[in-house]
Amino acid sequence: MSKNTPITVAHGDGIGPEIMDATLNIITSAGAKLDIETIEVGEQVYLRGNVAGIEPSAWDSLKRTRVFLKAPITTPQGGGYKSLNVATRKTLGLYANIRPCISYHPYVMTKHPKMDLVIVRENEEDLYAGIEHRQTQDVYQCLKLISRSGSEKIIRYAFEYAMSNNRKKVTCFVKDNIMKLTDGLFHQVYNEISEEYPEIEKEVWIVDIGAAKMADTPENFDVIVMENLYGDILSDVAAQIAGSVGLAGSSNIGENYAMFEAIHGSAPRRAGQNLANPSGLLLGAVMMLNHIGQSEVAANVHNAWLKTLEDGIHTYDIFKDSTSKEKVGTKEFAKAVVSRLGEKPEKLKEVSYKKTAKKEAKKSKTGKAKIQRKDLIGIDVFLDWNSGSAEDLGAILKKVNTENLKLDLISSRGIKVWPDGNPETYCTDHWRCRFMVSTDGEVLNNSDIITLLDRINDSGFDFIKTENLYNFDGVSGYSKDQ
Ligand code: NAD
Repeated sequence: MSKNTPITVAHGDGIGPEIMDATLNIITSAGAKLDIETIEVGEQVYLRGNVAGIEPSAWDSLKRTRVFLKAPITTPQGGGYKSLNVATRKTLGLYANIRPCISYHPYVMTKHPKMDLVIVRENEEDLYAGIEHRQTQDVYQCLKLISRSGSEKIIRYAFEYAMSNNRKKVTCFVKDNIMKLTDGLFHQVYNEISEEYPEIEKEVWIVDIGAAKMADTPENFDVIVMENLYGDILSDVAAQIAGSVGLAGSSNIGENYAMFEAIHGSAPRRAGQNLANPSGLLLGAVMMLNHIGQSEVAANVHNAWLKTLEDGIHTYDIFKDSTSKEKVGTKEFAKAVVSRLGEKPEKLKEVSYKKTAKKEAKKSKTGKAKIQRKDLIGIDVFLDWNSGSAEDLGAILKKVNTENLKLDLISSRGIKVWPDGNPETYCTDHWRCRFMVSTDGEVLNNSDIITLLDRINDSGFDFIKTENLYNFDGVSGYSKDQ
Protein backbone atom coordinates (compact mmCIF):
# COMPACT_ATOMS: atom_id res chain seq x y z
CA MET A 1 0.00 0.00 0.00
CA SER A 2 1.30 3.46 -0.90
CA LYS A 3 2.20 5.82 1.92
CA ASN A 4 0.24 8.91 2.94
CA THR A 5 1.54 12.25 1.67
CA PRO A 6 1.98 14.94 4.35
CA ILE A 7 0.26 18.22 3.46
CA THR A 8 -0.30 21.48 5.33
CA VAL A 9 -3.85 22.81 5.49
CA ALA A 10 -5.12 26.26 6.51
CA HIS A 11 -8.87 26.65 7.00
CA GLY A 12 -8.76 30.42 6.46
CA ASP A 13 -11.41 33.04 7.20
CA GLY A 14 -14.95 33.92 6.14
CA ILE A 15 -16.30 31.06 4.02
CA GLY A 16 -12.86 29.39 4.25
CA PRO A 17 -13.57 26.83 7.04
CA GLU A 18 -16.83 25.70 5.39
CA ILE A 19 -15.37 25.19 1.91
CA MET A 20 -12.25 23.52 3.37
CA ASP A 21 -14.36 21.04 5.38
CA ALA A 22 -16.37 20.26 2.25
CA THR A 23 -13.21 19.83 0.16
CA LEU A 24 -11.44 17.57 2.67
CA ASN A 25 -14.61 15.52 3.10
CA ILE A 26 -14.80 14.92 -0.67
CA ILE A 27 -11.13 14.12 -1.29
CA THR A 28 -10.74 11.83 1.71
CA SER A 29 -13.96 10.02 0.77
CA ALA A 30 -12.39 9.52 -2.67
CA GLY A 31 -9.42 7.79 -1.04
CA ALA A 32 -6.82 10.57 -0.99
CA LYS A 33 -3.90 9.36 1.13
CA LEU A 34 -2.95 12.38 3.21
CA ASP A 35 -1.34 13.17 6.55
CA ILE A 36 -2.84 16.58 7.28
CA GLU A 37 -1.00 19.16 9.40
CA THR A 38 -3.27 22.10 10.22
CA ILE A 39 -1.92 25.62 10.60
CA GLU A 40 -3.59 28.88 11.50
CA VAL A 41 -3.13 31.83 9.14
CA GLY A 42 -5.07 35.00 8.41
CA GLU A 43 -7.34 37.36 10.28
CA GLN A 44 -6.97 36.09 13.86
CA VAL A 45 -3.18 35.90 13.51
CA TYR A 46 -3.09 39.44 12.10
CA LEU A 47 -5.32 40.72 14.89
CA ARG A 48 -3.01 39.18 17.52
CA GLY A 49 -0.44 41.69 16.26
CA ASN A 50 1.45 39.49 13.79
CA VAL A 51 1.62 41.77 10.72
CA ALA A 52 2.53 38.85 8.46
CA GLY A 53 -0.64 36.86 9.30
CA ILE A 54 1.34 33.66 9.84
CA GLU A 55 3.16 32.28 12.92
CA PRO A 56 6.79 31.07 12.63
CA SER A 57 5.67 27.51 13.55
CA ALA A 58 3.40 27.48 10.48
CA TRP A 59 6.44 28.02 8.25
CA ASP A 60 8.02 24.96 9.89
CA SER A 61 5.06 22.84 8.81
CA LEU A 62 5.16 24.26 5.26
CA LYS A 63 8.89 23.59 5.00
CA ARG A 64 8.32 20.03 6.20
CA THR A 65 5.40 19.07 3.93
CA ARG A 66 6.17 21.37 0.96
CA VAL A 67 2.52 21.15 -0.07
CA PHE A 68 -0.02 23.73 1.08
CA LEU A 69 -3.79 23.58 0.64
CA LYS A 70 -5.06 26.98 1.64
CA ALA A 71 -8.57 28.38 2.07
CA PRO A 72 -9.04 32.11 1.41
CA ILE A 73 -8.19 34.51 4.19
CA THR A 74 -9.30 38.01 5.16
CA THR A 75 -6.67 40.71 5.37
CA PRO A 76 -7.91 43.25 7.95
CA GLN A 77 -8.47 46.78 6.62
CA GLY A 78 -5.98 49.48 7.51
CA GLY A 79 -2.24 49.90 7.18
CA GLY A 80 0.59 47.74 8.40
CA TYR A 81 -0.72 44.28 7.47
CA LYS A 82 1.33 42.45 4.86
CA SER A 83 -0.32 40.25 2.23
CA LEU A 84 0.06 36.64 3.35
CA ASN A 85 -0.49 35.44 -0.21
CA VAL A 86 2.35 37.54 -1.59
CA ALA A 87 4.63 36.55 1.33
CA THR A 88 3.87 32.83 0.85
CA ARG A 89 4.50 32.95 -2.89
CA LYS A 90 7.79 34.77 -2.41
CA THR A 91 9.09 32.89 0.62
CA LEU A 92 8.38 29.50 -0.94
CA GLY A 93 9.53 30.59 -4.42
CA LEU A 94 6.15 29.82 -6.03
CA TYR A 95 6.91 31.43 -9.37
CA ALA A 96 4.07 29.96 -11.44
CA ASN A 97 0.37 30.57 -10.82
CA ILE A 98 -1.82 28.32 -12.92
CA ARG A 99 -5.48 29.24 -13.29
CA PRO A 100 -7.68 27.10 -15.55
CA CYS A 101 -10.88 28.96 -16.53
CA ILE A 102 -13.38 26.61 -18.12
CA SER A 103 -17.08 26.98 -18.86
CA TYR A 104 -19.55 24.21 -18.02
CA HIS A 105 -22.24 24.98 -20.58
CA PRO A 106 -25.17 24.33 -20.52
CA TYR A 107 -25.09 23.47 -16.80
CA VAL A 108 -23.60 26.79 -15.62
CA MET A 109 -24.78 29.96 -17.36
CA THR A 110 -22.09 31.65 -19.42
CA LYS A 111 -21.92 33.78 -22.55
CA HIS A 112 -18.95 31.68 -23.65
CA PRO A 113 -20.00 28.03 -23.89
CA LYS A 114 -16.75 26.85 -25.54
CA MET A 115 -14.32 28.63 -23.22
CA ASP A 116 -11.46 26.42 -22.01
CA LEU A 117 -8.29 28.40 -21.28
CA VAL A 118 -5.50 28.41 -18.72
CA ILE A 119 -3.78 31.52 -17.48
CA VAL A 120 -0.15 31.01 -16.46
CA ARG A 121 0.75 34.02 -14.35
CA GLU A 122 4.25 34.97 -13.22
CA ASN A 123 4.00 35.13 -9.46
CA GLU A 124 7.09 36.73 -7.92
CA GLU A 125 8.10 39.83 -9.89
CA ASP A 126 6.60 42.89 -11.57
CA LEU A 127 4.93 45.63 -9.52
CA TYR A 128 4.32 42.98 -6.83
CA ALA A 129 7.89 43.36 -5.61
CA GLY A 130 6.19 45.89 -3.32
CA ILE A 131 8.99 48.44 -3.64
CA GLU A 132 7.18 51.76 -3.34
CA HIS A 133 8.35 55.20 -2.35
CA ARG A 134 6.90 58.61 -1.85
CA GLN A 135 9.50 60.91 -3.34
CA THR A 136 8.02 64.40 -3.24
CA GLN A 137 4.90 66.12 -1.93
CA ASP A 138 3.15 65.17 -5.16
CA VAL A 139 4.71 61.99 -6.55
CA TYR A 140 4.68 58.34 -5.44
CA GLN A 141 6.53 55.53 -7.18
CA CYS A 142 6.11 51.75 -7.51
CA LEU A 143 8.98 49.81 -9.07
CA LYS A 144 8.29 47.28 -11.78
CA LEU A 145 11.01 44.62 -11.80
CA ILE A 146 11.22 41.98 -14.53
CA SER A 147 14.19 39.60 -14.73
CA ARG A 148 15.37 37.49 -17.64
CA SER A 149 15.66 34.44 -15.37
CA GLY A 150 12.15 34.95 -13.94
CA SER A 151 10.69 35.41 -17.43
CA GLU A 152 12.47 32.30 -18.72
CA LYS A 153 11.14 30.20 -15.83
CA ILE A 154 7.49 31.20 -16.26
CA ILE A 155 7.46 31.09 -20.06
CA ARG A 156 9.15 27.69 -20.14
CA TYR A 157 6.65 26.51 -17.52
CA ALA A 158 3.77 27.66 -19.76
CA PHE A 159 5.14 25.70 -22.74
CA GLU A 160 5.85 22.59 -20.64
CA TYR A 161 2.34 22.84 -19.21
CA ALA A 162 0.90 23.05 -22.74
CA MET A 163 2.90 19.98 -23.83
CA SER A 164 1.88 17.88 -20.81
CA ASN A 165 -1.77 18.90 -20.92
CA ASN A 166 -2.35 18.47 -24.64
CA ARG A 167 -2.78 22.18 -25.24
CA LYS A 168 -2.06 23.53 -28.71
CA LYS A 169 -1.22 27.21 -28.34
CA VAL A 170 0.62 29.48 -25.87
CA THR A 171 -0.29 33.17 -26.19
CA CYS A 172 1.77 35.91 -24.55
CA PHE A 173 0.23 39.20 -23.34
CA VAL A 174 2.62 42.16 -22.96
CA LYS A 175 2.60 45.94 -23.07
CA ASP A 176 5.93 46.40 -24.79
CA ASN A 177 4.73 49.23 -27.01
CA ILE A 178 5.01 51.32 -23.82
CA MET A 179 7.34 49.38 -21.47
CA LYS A 180 9.97 48.60 -24.05
CA LEU A 181 12.60 47.31 -21.64
CA THR A 182 10.62 45.31 -19.07
CA ASP A 183 7.77 43.99 -21.19
CA GLY A 184 10.13 44.03 -24.17
CA LEU A 185 12.31 41.52 -22.30
CA PHE A 186 9.32 39.28 -21.52
CA HIS A 187 8.33 39.35 -25.20
CA GLN A 188 11.87 38.60 -26.36
CA VAL A 189 12.24 35.68 -23.94
CA TYR A 190 8.86 34.37 -25.14
CA ASN A 191 10.13 34.49 -28.74
CA GLU A 192 13.32 32.65 -27.79
CA ILE A 193 11.67 29.91 -25.74
CA SER A 194 8.79 29.37 -28.16
CA GLU A 195 11.40 28.34 -30.77
CA GLU A 196 12.12 25.26 -28.63
CA TYR A 197 8.49 24.11 -28.98
CA PRO A 198 7.71 23.99 -32.72
CA GLU A 199 4.66 21.79 -32.08
CA ILE A 200 2.96 24.55 -30.07
CA GLU A 201 1.35 27.49 -31.88
CA LYS A 202 2.58 30.89 -30.73
CA GLU A 203 0.82 34.24 -30.59
CA VAL A 204 1.53 37.62 -28.95
CA TRP A 205 -0.98 40.36 -28.14
CA ILE A 206 -0.60 43.78 -26.55
CA VAL A 207 -2.38 43.16 -23.25
CA ASP A 208 -5.17 45.70 -23.74
CA ILE A 209 -6.45 44.34 -27.05
CA GLY A 210 -5.57 40.80 -25.94
CA ALA A 211 -7.75 41.25 -22.84
CA ALA A 212 -10.58 42.61 -24.97
CA LYS A 213 -10.36 39.60 -27.30
CA MET A 214 -10.20 37.22 -24.36
CA ALA A 215 -13.37 38.74 -22.87
CA ASP A 216 -15.09 38.63 -26.27
CA THR A 217 -14.03 35.29 -27.77
CA PRO A 218 -12.22 33.34 -25.04
CA GLU A 219 -12.66 30.12 -27.02
CA ASN A 220 -9.86 31.35 -29.32
CA PHE A 221 -7.33 31.10 -26.48
CA ASP A 222 -5.67 28.05 -24.99
CA VAL A 223 -2.76 28.81 -22.60
CA ILE A 224 -1.98 32.50 -21.94
CA VAL A 225 1.27 33.45 -20.21
CA MET A 226 1.71 36.88 -18.66
CA GLU A 227 3.40 38.99 -16.04
CA ASN A 228 2.08 39.19 -12.49
CA LEU A 229 -0.26 42.21 -12.58
CA TYR A 230 -1.89 41.42 -15.94
CA GLY A 231 -2.33 37.81 -14.83
CA ASP A 232 -3.86 38.80 -11.51
CA ILE A 233 -6.48 40.99 -13.14
CA LEU A 234 -7.22 38.92 -16.22
CA SER A 235 -7.52 35.58 -14.44
CA ASP A 236 -10.39 37.00 -12.38
CA VAL A 237 -12.01 38.30 -15.56
CA ALA A 238 -11.54 34.91 -17.24
CA ALA A 239 -12.94 32.99 -14.23
CA GLN A 240 -15.96 35.28 -14.00
CA ILE A 241 -16.89 35.08 -17.69
CA ALA A 242 -16.50 31.29 -17.59
CA GLY A 243 -19.43 31.23 -15.16
CA SER A 244 -18.40 32.27 -11.65
CA VAL A 245 -15.27 33.15 -9.66
CA GLY A 246 -16.58 30.51 -7.25
CA LEU A 247 -15.70 27.74 -9.74
CA ALA A 248 -12.00 28.32 -10.37
CA GLY A 249 -9.09 26.73 -8.53
CA SER A 250 -5.44 27.64 -8.83
CA SER A 251 -2.02 26.20 -8.18
CA ASN A 252 1.13 28.07 -7.24
CA ILE A 253 4.17 26.05 -8.20
CA GLY A 254 7.85 26.46 -7.33
CA GLU A 255 10.95 24.29 -7.59
CA ASN A 256 10.45 22.86 -4.08
CA TYR A 257 7.05 23.94 -2.80
CA ALA A 258 3.48 24.23 -4.05
CA MET A 259 0.33 25.92 -2.83
CA PHE A 260 -3.24 25.21 -3.96
CA GLU A 261 -6.26 27.43 -3.44
CA ALA A 262 -9.48 28.86 -4.86
CA ILE A 263 -9.04 32.07 -6.81
CA HIS A 264 -11.80 33.89 -4.93
CA GLY A 265 -11.52 35.54 -1.52
CA SER A 266 -13.09 34.84 1.84
CA ALA A 267 -16.50 36.38 0.95
CA PRO A 268 -17.15 37.40 4.59
CA ARG A 269 -20.79 38.33 3.92
CA ARG A 270 -21.54 34.72 2.98
CA ALA A 271 -19.66 33.17 5.90
CA GLY A 272 -21.24 30.77 8.40
CA GLN A 273 -24.48 30.31 6.41
CA ASN A 274 -23.71 27.05 4.57
CA LEU A 275 -24.07 29.01 1.31
CA ALA A 276 -20.62 29.10 -0.31
CA ASN A 277 -19.65 27.09 -3.35
CA PRO A 278 -16.67 24.87 -2.43
CA SER A 279 -15.85 24.15 -6.11
CA GLY A 280 -12.92 26.58 -6.48
CA LEU A 281 -11.06 25.10 -3.52
CA LEU A 282 -12.05 21.58 -4.55
CA LEU A 283 -10.52 22.09 -8.01
CA GLY A 284 -7.43 23.53 -6.27
CA ALA A 285 -7.32 20.29 -4.26
CA VAL A 286 -7.66 18.27 -7.48
CA MET A 287 -4.57 20.09 -8.80
CA MET A 288 -2.83 19.24 -5.51
CA LEU A 289 -3.70 15.54 -5.79
CA ASN A 290 -2.18 15.52 -9.26
CA HIS A 291 0.91 17.30 -8.03
CA ILE A 292 1.51 14.72 -5.27
CA GLY A 293 1.01 11.86 -7.71
CA GLN A 294 -2.50 10.82 -6.63
CA SER A 295 -3.83 11.35 -10.14
CA GLU A 296 -6.46 8.61 -10.03
CA VAL A 297 -8.08 10.15 -6.96
CA ALA A 298 -7.86 13.56 -8.66
CA ALA A 299 -9.69 12.29 -11.74
CA ASN A 300 -12.29 10.48 -9.61
CA VAL A 301 -13.06 13.68 -7.64
CA HIS A 302 -13.07 15.87 -10.76
CA ASN A 303 -15.42 13.57 -12.69
CA ALA A 304 -17.81 13.21 -9.74
CA TRP A 305 -17.84 16.99 -9.42
CA LEU A 306 -18.62 17.40 -13.16
CA LYS A 307 -21.45 14.87 -12.80
CA THR A 308 -22.86 16.85 -9.85
CA LEU A 309 -22.89 20.03 -11.95
CA GLU A 310 -24.51 18.11 -14.80
CA ASP A 311 -27.19 16.77 -12.47
CA GLY A 312 -28.16 20.37 -11.70
CA ILE A 313 -27.14 20.24 -8.01
CA HIS A 314 -25.97 23.85 -7.63
CA THR A 315 -25.05 26.31 -4.90
CA TYR A 316 -26.74 29.74 -4.91
CA ASP A 317 -24.02 31.48 -6.95
CA ILE A 318 -24.59 29.33 -10.06
CA PHE A 319 -28.23 28.40 -9.46
CA LYS A 320 -30.57 29.39 -12.31
CA ASP A 321 -34.16 28.16 -12.67
CA SER A 322 -33.52 27.33 -16.33
CA THR A 323 -30.38 25.21 -15.84
CA SER A 324 -30.43 23.99 -12.22
CA LYS A 325 -32.50 21.29 -10.52
CA GLU A 326 -31.75 21.70 -6.82
CA LYS A 327 -30.36 24.64 -4.83
CA VAL A 328 -28.06 23.27 -2.12
CA GLY A 329 -25.77 24.54 0.60
CA THR A 330 -22.05 23.87 0.94
CA LYS A 331 -22.46 20.65 2.94
CA GLU A 332 -25.18 19.21 0.71
CA PHE A 333 -23.12 19.99 -2.38
CA ALA A 334 -20.17 18.08 -0.89
CA LYS A 335 -22.47 15.16 -0.04
CA ALA A 336 -23.76 15.15 -3.63
CA VAL A 337 -20.21 14.96 -5.00
CA VAL A 338 -19.28 12.16 -2.56
CA SER A 339 -22.34 10.16 -3.61
CA ARG A 340 -21.20 10.42 -7.26
CA LEU A 341 -17.61 9.25 -6.70
CA GLY A 342 -16.84 6.65 -9.33
CA GLU A 343 -19.32 8.19 -11.79
CA LYS A 344 -18.39 10.06 -14.98
CA PRO A 345 -20.06 13.06 -16.58
CA GLU A 346 -22.32 12.18 -19.51
CA LYS A 347 -22.23 15.40 -21.52
CA LEU A 348 -19.32 17.40 -20.09
CA LYS A 349 -15.88 16.19 -21.06
CA GLU A 350 -14.56 13.49 -18.75
CA VAL A 351 -11.10 14.22 -17.32
CA SER A 352 -8.16 11.87 -17.02
CA TYR A 353 -4.82 12.83 -15.54
CA LYS A 354 -1.25 11.74 -15.90
CA LYS A 355 1.55 12.72 -13.53
CA THR A 356 2.88 16.05 -14.83
CA ALA A 357 3.31 18.97 -12.51
CA LYS A 358 6.53 17.96 -10.77
CA LYS A 359 8.21 17.38 -14.10
CA GLU A 360 7.17 20.84 -15.29
CA ALA A 361 8.69 22.49 -12.24
CA LYS A 362 11.97 20.60 -12.61
CA LYS A 363 12.32 21.39 -16.29
CA SER A 364 11.91 25.06 -15.53
CA LYS A 365 15.48 25.59 -14.36
CA THR A 366 17.25 28.15 -16.49
CA GLY A 367 20.83 28.15 -17.68
CA LYS A 368 23.36 30.87 -16.81
CA ALA A 369 23.12 33.86 -19.16
CA LYS A 370 26.25 35.13 -20.91
CA ILE A 371 27.83 38.06 -19.03
CA GLN A 372 27.62 41.24 -21.13
CA ARG A 373 29.96 44.24 -20.99
CA LYS A 374 28.33 46.96 -18.90
CA ASP A 375 29.40 50.58 -19.56
CA LEU A 376 28.27 53.47 -17.38
CA ILE A 377 27.54 56.38 -19.74
CA GLY A 378 25.27 58.71 -17.80
CA ILE A 379 22.94 59.23 -14.90
CA ASP A 380 19.34 60.30 -14.28
CA VAL A 381 19.19 62.50 -11.20
CA PHE A 382 15.67 62.97 -9.86
CA LEU A 383 15.01 66.25 -8.07
CA ASP A 384 12.26 67.44 -5.74
CA TRP A 385 12.05 71.07 -6.91
CA ASN A 386 9.24 73.57 -6.97
CA SER A 387 10.88 76.92 -7.63
CA GLY A 388 10.24 77.72 -11.27
CA SER A 389 9.83 76.50 -14.82
CA ALA A 390 11.65 73.82 -16.79
CA GLU A 391 13.58 76.57 -18.57
CA ASP A 392 14.70 77.98 -15.19
CA LEU A 393 15.82 74.52 -14.01
CA GLY A 394 17.72 73.86 -17.25
CA ALA A 395 19.54 77.18 -16.98
CA ILE A 396 20.67 76.46 -13.39
CA LEU A 397 21.60 72.82 -13.96
CA LYS A 398 23.76 73.59 -17.00
CA LYS A 399 26.05 75.34 -14.53
CA VAL A 400 26.60 72.17 -12.50
CA ASN A 401 27.95 70.22 -15.53
CA THR A 402 31.27 68.56 -14.69
CA GLU A 403 34.23 67.80 -16.90
CA ASN A 404 32.75 64.37 -17.77
CA LEU A 405 29.02 64.79 -17.42
CA LYS A 406 26.74 67.33 -19.03
CA LEU A 407 23.02 68.01 -18.83
CA ASP A 408 21.27 66.29 -21.72
CA LEU A 409 17.56 66.64 -20.97
CA ILE A 410 14.97 67.20 -18.27
CA SER A 411 11.63 65.45 -18.18
CA SER A 412 8.63 65.63 -15.91
CA ARG A 413 6.75 62.34 -15.47
CA GLY A 414 8.49 61.02 -18.58
CA ILE A 415 7.69 63.95 -20.91
CA LYS A 416 10.65 65.97 -22.12
CA VAL A 417 10.41 69.56 -20.92
CA TRP A 418 13.99 70.77 -21.57
CA PRO A 419 15.53 71.64 -23.97
CA ASP A 420 12.80 72.74 -26.38
CA GLY A 421 9.94 71.72 -24.12
CA ASN A 422 6.34 72.67 -24.65
CA PRO A 423 5.40 75.40 -22.11
CA GLU A 424 1.91 73.83 -21.97
CA THR A 425 3.25 70.59 -20.42
CA TYR A 426 2.16 70.35 -16.80
CA CYS A 427 5.21 69.94 -14.56
CA THR A 428 4.94 68.60 -11.06
CA ASP A 429 7.59 68.83 -8.31
CA HIS A 430 9.37 65.72 -9.62
CA TRP A 431 12.09 66.23 -12.26
CA ARG A 432 14.24 63.69 -14.05
CA CYS A 433 17.51 65.39 -15.05
CA ARG A 434 19.62 63.31 -17.42
CA PHE A 435 23.38 63.91 -17.50
CA MET A 436 25.32 62.08 -20.22
CA VAL A 437 29.02 61.47 -20.70
CA SER A 438 30.44 64.55 -22.46
CA THR A 439 32.73 62.71 -24.91
CA ASP A 440 31.26 59.96 -27.09
CA GLY A 441 32.81 56.54 -26.45
CA GLU A 442 34.06 57.45 -22.98
CA VAL A 443 32.97 55.37 -20.00
CA LEU A 444 32.26 56.79 -16.55
CA ASN A 445 32.93 55.44 -13.10
CA ASN A 446 31.22 55.96 -9.76
CA SER A 447 33.53 58.83 -8.75
CA ASP A 448 32.34 60.81 -11.80
CA ILE A 449 28.81 60.39 -10.46
CA ILE A 450 29.82 61.40 -6.94
CA THR A 451 31.51 64.57 -8.27
CA LEU A 452 28.32 65.51 -10.14
CA LEU A 453 26.10 64.82 -7.13
CA ASP A 454 28.41 66.94 -4.95
CA ARG A 455 27.96 69.85 -7.34
CA ILE A 456 24.19 69.38 -7.44
CA ASN A 457 24.12 69.25 -3.64
CA ASP A 458 26.31 72.39 -3.40
CA SER A 459 23.80 74.20 -5.63
CA GLY A 460 21.10 73.55 -3.01
CA PHE A 461 19.06 70.90 -4.83
CA ASP A 462 17.21 68.05 -3.11
CA PHE A 463 18.00 64.94 -5.12
CA ILE A 464 15.60 62.16 -4.26
CA LYS A 465 17.09 59.34 -6.27
CA THR A 466 19.48 58.50 -9.06
CA GLU A 467 19.48 55.84 -11.77
CA ASN A 468 22.70 54.95 -13.56
CA LEU A 469 22.51 54.72 -17.36
CA TYR A 470 24.33 51.74 -18.83
CA ASN A 471 25.02 50.25 -22.21
CA PHE A 472 25.14 46.44 -22.26
CA ASP A 473 27.39 45.23 -25.09
CA GLY A 474 26.75 48.61 -26.69
CA VAL A 475 22.94 48.36 -26.42
CA SER A 476 21.26 51.02 -24.35
CA GLY A 477 19.81 49.78 -21.05
CA TYR A 478 17.46 52.70 -20.32
CA SER A 479 14.37 54.26 -21.84
CA LYS A 480 14.54 57.38 -23.97
CA ASP A 481 12.26 60.30 -23.14
CA GLN A 482 8.80 60.51 -24.71
P1 NAD B 1 -14.39 37.61 -2.65
O1 NAD B 1 -13.88 36.75 -3.77
O2 NAD B 1 -14.16 37.11 -1.27
O3 NAD B 1 -15.95 37.81 -2.82
C1 NAD B 1 -16.59 38.53 -3.84
C2 NAD B 1 -18.01 38.01 -4.02
O4 NAD B 1 -17.97 36.84 -4.81
C3 NAD B 1 -18.68 37.58 -2.71
O5 NAD B 1 -19.39 38.61 -2.12
C4 NAD B 1 -19.61 36.49 -3.17
O6 NAD B 1 -20.80 37.04 -3.65
C5 NAD B 1 -18.89 35.87 -4.34
N1 NAD B 1 -18.15 34.65 -3.99
C6 NAD B 1 -16.81 34.51 -3.85
N2 NAD B 1 -16.48 33.24 -3.58
C7 NAD B 1 -17.65 32.56 -3.53
C8 NAD B 1 -17.97 31.19 -3.29
N3 NAD B 1 -17.03 30.28 -3.04
N4 NAD B 1 -19.27 30.85 -3.31
C9 NAD B 1 -20.22 31.72 -3.55
N5 NAD B 1 -19.99 33.02 -3.80
C10 NAD B 1 -18.71 33.45 -3.79
O7 NAD B 1 -13.76 39.06 -2.84
P2 NAD B 1 -13.75 40.32 -1.87
O8 NAD B 1 -15.10 40.52 -1.28
O9 NAD B 1 -13.14 41.41 -2.67
O10 NAD B 1 -12.71 39.97 -0.72
C11 NAD B 1 -13.08 39.50 0.56
C12 NAD B 1 -11.83 39.22 1.37
O11 NAD B 1 -11.09 38.18 0.76
C13 NAD B 1 -10.86 40.40 1.50
O12 NAD B 1 -10.37 40.46 2.82
C14 NAD B 1 -9.72 40.03 0.56
O13 NAD B 1 -8.49 40.58 0.98
C15 NAD B 1 -9.72 38.53 0.68
N6 NAD B 1 -9.13 37.81 -0.47
C16 NAD B 1 -8.40 36.71 -0.17
C17 NAD B 1 -7.86 35.94 -1.19
C18 NAD B 1 -7.06 34.73 -0.81
O14 NAD B 1 -6.93 34.42 0.36
N7 NAD B 1 -6.50 34.02 -1.78
C19 NAD B 1 -8.08 36.28 -2.52
C20 NAD B 1 -8.88 37.41 -2.80
C21 NAD B 1 -9.42 38.17 -1.77
